Amino acid sequence: MRRKIVAGNWKMNLNFQEAEELIEDLLELLAEEEELKTEVVVCPPYPYLELTTDFSEEKLFHVGAQNLSAFDAGAYTGEISASMLASMDVTHCIIGHSERRKYFNEDDQMLTAKVNQALAHDITPIFCVGELLPEREAGEHFKTVRWQVRHGLFHLDTAEFSKVVIAYEPVWAIGTGVTASPAQAAEMHAYIRTLIDERYGPEMAEKTSILYGGSCNAKNATELFAQPGIDGGLIGGASLLAEEFVSICKQAQTA
Ligand code: PEP
Repeated sequence: MRRKIVAGNWKMNLNFQEAEELIEDLLELLAEEEELKTEVVVCPPYPYLELTTDFSEEKLFHVGAQNLSAFDAGAYTGEISASMLASMDVTHCIIGHSERRKYFNEDDQMLTAKVNQALAHDITPIFCVGELLPEREAGEHFKTVRWQVRHGLFHLDTAEFSKVVIAYEPVWAIGTGVTASPAQAAEMHAYIRTLIDERYGPEMAEKTSILYGGSCNAKNATELFAQPGIDGGLIGGASLLAEEFVSICKQAQTA
């Protein structure tokens, strides 16, 4: 049975006090959900990681980073290494988010280095793939995603790949309020699974968790998560609202 995962990407939002309040609200709500099996991951900005890992001692959620350095250690001013994150009990990291690909020119080579860094320090990469709107309109969405999956992940051996989580996030759906239709999302998830099957075999294809991201919220989550092959979500805007986020986590379990 595949893990159901909901990860909240706070992006560059909230001041310290707001972050503290959101974490407290999340803890209160999650504590009421004793039966919740969804793997909940909270990905705050770097400065709030320690605060978040302190609270996560109650084991109600895991803590993820939104990025990590492609380098190991040393003279890389401003960078945060995977070993630093691991030493702070950060267990997951978003890698290859479209905003980082777009605004910070993160290319395949850099992303593979980041994936390798994460895995070397036992951090679960949540590896994002997804096409731009013109690519979908041109019917090239499968080609784009195939390229991203192959060039970002397929250098890994079987044991390494088994630790990866993939998030399909059509770029045109991120932060736009426009969600991929459940059928569009399911179709791409199934396609990603065929790619995994070709490279690593059917067992791996069956057991890899693939999340959907892109304007997923408490109103549309159940319909998306009910699709075969969608194992939860990577949530941006809606992860800043405690009740909405916890509702999405619950929907991932029951859908
Ligand atoms: C994201 O940034 O990964 C995301 C899915 O954002 P949103 O939910 O706001 O579309």
